[in-house]
Amino acid sequence: MSAKPKTLQQAIVYFADADNCLKFMVERRWPNGVTCPTCGRADVRFISTRRMWECKEKHARKQFSVKIGTIFEDSALPLDKWLVAMWMVANCKNGVSSYEVARALGITQKSAWFMLHRIRLAMQTRSSVQLGGDGKPVEVDETFVGGAARFMHADKRKRRITETGTKDKTAVMGILERGGEVRAAVVGNRKKHALQSNIRAHVKAGSAIYSDALMSYQGLKQQGFEHQVIDHAEKYVDGQVHTNGLENFWSLFKRQLKGTYISVEPFHLFRYLDEQVFRYNLRELAHDGLRFEHVASHVIGKRLTYAEVTGKVGTTDSMSN
Ligand SMILES: [Zn+2]
Repeated sequence: MSAKPKTLQQAIVYFADADNCLKFMVERRWPNGVTCPTCGRADVRFISTRRMWECKEKHARKQFSVKIGTIFEDSALPLDKWLVAMWMVANCKNGVSSYEVARALGITQKSAWFMLHRIRLAMQTRSSVQLGGDGKPVEVDETFVGGAARFMHADKRKRRITETGTKDKTAVMGILERGGEVRAAVVGNRKKHALQSNIRAHVKAGSAIYSDALMSYQGLKQQGFEHQVIDHAEKYVDGQVHTNGLENFWSLFKRQLKGTYISVEPFHLFRYLDEQVFRYNLRELAHDGLRFEHVASHVIGKRLTYAEVTGKVGTTDSMSN
């Protein structure tokens, strides 16, 4: 089969061939030809038996594979497993758990868990393009996620609650251009400064903004937005004024968390949010292969070590695309 896969079944068949995996990733990693990642030399020798290259310079890491400088770096798992896992995360509407990936690929759950976090990093595409403008209304809303602390072991619960402040729930903010893209991020609190600085960063000045009656949104009019409020104590829709688009996104996100991932450390919550935002923003694509291609094109130049993902090294969160 030479055509690019459009379904999971076609992807499994296509990537079962190690040469197809290699060709697919080389085209993305080195679109202008393979060069040594250490010194940049282009006259590298391909060692076909190992599917690796060797540089002629005498430096460390003279042999390298297509995984170098990507989320796959230092992974012992072969590309066929990586690419099929990427396909699953890119396209399963409610996400896919490390247990499912472990069973589907015949790897350990721990390997699958780490793999999924690296794939989520590839799905984390920060955008500085502002939403709204041109008469396109924007919804803003926040929600709380979590609250499973009662099921946890006491010392773990204590640690988790300390990490998130005073409660066992984590505040998440969303900004949605109606019919367009969503941005969402974990926010430390729902105070005016946190919410409105995200709005100023991600919404074009002058846009129509719809929100609920939360006090933190007061003052947006003075900042040049056409702000209208729907008071959920009274009703949920008043003509165009509602936040149903974001309510729909929150329900998808919570279904992903509750149904598939069950228990998520607040520390990792932004990664799951990035995953859902990614799928949501590419929801209109014609077939699954295009969503997969999108992830595959973002694996380069990103790394996530085990120490980072297990919290031994700090990572930061910001509003994602
Ligand atoms: Zn070199």
